[in-house]
Amino acid sequence: MRPPLLNPLFAGASGLKGIGEKLDKLLARFLRPVQGTPGATTRIIDLLFHLPSGLVDRRFRPRIADLPREGVVTVEATVIRHRPPPPANKRIPYRVEVSDGTGVLSLVFFHAYAETIRRALPEGETRFISGKIDWFNGEPQVAHPDHIVAGEEFGRMPLIEPVYPLTEGLSAKVLARSIAQALEKLPDLPEWQDQAYLQRHGWPSFGTALKAMHRPETPSATGPDAPARRRLAYDELLANQLALSLVRASMKRAQGRRLAGTGDLRAKLIRALPYSLTAAQAGAVEEILRDMASDDRMLRLLQGDVGSGKTVVALLALAAAVESGAQGALMVPTEILARQHHATLSKLCEAAGIQVTLLTGREKGKPREEALARIASGATNLVVGTHALFQDDVIFHDLGLVVIDEQHRFGVHQRLALQAKAGGATDLLVMTATPIPRTLALTVYGDMDVSKLTEKPAGRLPVDTRVIPMSRVDDVIEGLSRSMAQGNRAYWVCPLVEESEQVDLAAAEDRFLQLASRFTGKTGLVHGRMKGPDKDRVMAQFKDGTLTLLVSTTVIEVGVDVPEATVMVIENAERFGLAQLHQLRGRVGRGTGKSSCLLLYQEPLGETAKARLSIMRETEDGFRIAEEDLKLRGAGEMLGTRQSGLPLFRMADLSTDGDLLATARDDAQLVLSRDAKLTTQRGEALRILLYLFERDEAVRLLAAG
Ligand code: ADP
Ligand code: MG
Repeated sequence: MRPPLLNPLFAGASGLKGIGEKLDKLLARFLRPVQGTPGATTRIIDLLFHLPSGLVDRRFRPRIADLPREGVVTVEATVIRHRPPPPANKRIPYRVEVSDGTGVLSLVFFHAYAETIRRALPEGETRFISGKIDWFNGEPQVAHPDHIVAGEEFGRMPLIEPVYPLTEGLSAKVLARSIAQALEKLPDLPEWQDQAYLQRHGWPSFGTALKAMHRPETPSATGPDAPARRRLAYDELLANQLALSLVRASMKRAQGRRLAGTGDLRAKLIRALPYSLTAAQAGAVEEILRDMASDDRMLRLLQGDVGSGKTVVALLALAAAVESGAQGALMVPTEILARQHHATLSKLCEAAGIQVTLLTGREKGKPREEALARIASGATNLVVGTHALFQDDVIFHDLGLVVIDEQHRFGVHQRLALQAKAGGATDLLVMTATPIPRTLALTVYGDMDVSKLTEKPAGRLPVDTRVIPMSRVDDVIEGLSRSMAQGNRAYWVCPLVEESEQVDLAAAEDRFLQLASRFTGKTGLVHGRMKGPDKDRVMAQFKDGTLTLLVSTTVIEVGVDVPEATVMVIENAERFGLAQLHQLRGRVGRGTGKSSCLLLYQEPLGETAKARLSIMRETEDGFRIAEEDLKLRGAGEMLGTRQSGLPLFRMADLSTDGDLLATARDDAQLVLSRDAKLTTQRGEALRILLYLFERDEAVRLLAAG
């Protein structure tokens, strides 16, 4: 249970002045995107962890005669006269002239309520005015001053003002006021960091650091190197690493079981494969089997770039579990993938006499009951499914191995739930296609044993990647037409307009209508909002070649395997993360045909965007792409924050704080090696840290083990 000490931080923000129901919802969506539970509310801590992205320095207070050419100033002046616009002309702004005896400054308001302006600036009175200076016809002016305050309030006006990331519908003033109130609720917390370490870096306490960020006192107080920001980032990284270490420790603690297998099912499977394994695949299988055959519990990560052939490695591991008399489960992040894997595995498994069952959120009623019965009785050997595999009524007869595919989409939380379900002894294999750079891998997986698929199956041709402006979309469609006439199949991925499915969808539907009228009867559409069976039907038709052009939103991003598809068109490619583009491109070049990928971009293209797209053209090496992406953008963006479900950081920014990660990992391991149960004084404080960053499950493991 969360220590009561932290209750004020997890209390709802709706108690604060100015936060009504509507704002509460808006803030929750904005500040807690990863949790994303519908109906989520905002908590004090969500406000406090929303750090400023910069600040405005208002300390410069020149006389009007000495106003600079540009910049933010604060001026003390008397209101001389109001010059409202003529009633008929809305385009002329409302002007107010103020003077400090050295000159006249105009305050300019567009589309403003006269009444509000009159109230804020009564003629003859003195006000402090702060805002950005402009010059118009040689006269100084401030358009829409940020602050207009009377003398008695001036003491309370922040002269160094934090600037926060905003979202539509949220005003800077309202957010700042809410955060200021939240700061008042901050309790005193014990120190969980090592004192010597803090001193060495000159880092303040947690509370002091939060205050320093939200009430900056110097212009550098909130920068990426600011001790306060670094301290908070380190807190978050340490919480993350501690949680992962605890998960790992508890998994390792559980008695493993030997799943040595006999090899006969595997031999049948390998005979049934239309290809032979690559050396990398064979090597990975061997490492996995060795782990499974040992008494220790397996905790292994299989990394392999898109198209490197992870699925068959998983299948062979699962078969080894079945040979040993146990069941295996393969968990994937999407419905489409679950169906696809189920289809491919079933076909192969038939040859070996292995029974495979599908279980997703869509199986309901009688079919679901039958599936559950087969799983519980052991009649089924393998289960393929989505996170529906976690549900309480899913009871395995004897689960020996769990494989999690495309794992970066699942949170640590889900992994823990699965672990609980699986009971102590289950071996775990996690597969990821996203070539996660080392730094990120640490935050997501902690220290797992790693197998890598370093080569792709032979005979794959490089994907010819081109970067093309949107203005040439008609040429692209012509080219597509020629290619389809030669029997090629193509994907057309529609832009991520906003991180809103609604808008993405509209764009995809428009494009679909256009392409469908051009390629009549050949074009299909899939998107996330479609009903499951409809999605399946379209995917199946694309797979069997009835449809040859598949228009989609990014639902096809992960794992979809249609080897015959050889053309990938991505609209507004500049809006995607590189890792995502890499994933999308990975949908082609999977067979022996020559493939191409067309990255359409909207002009004009900025320098960074240009650099990013040319990386795509230069290389198909997922690791290189990921590293470059991390350099060019923040980590959150890289994996597509909203979709990735990564335990993304709220305060740490891996592009600037990545250097702290290895230290955090070492620190976590050192702490746990000395104080495995977190019972020392620092240990107790670290428990608070874990709760603070909502790693509650990790604390529960302490009690359980
Ligand atoms: P990923 O690693 O992206 O999950 P898949 O497992 O989906 O890759 O494999 C990609 C494609 O490569 C599939 O069509 C699969 O049948 C094929 N494949 C896998 N291994 C080999 C191999 N050794 N030789 C040829 N093709 C292979
Ligand atoms: Mg895959």
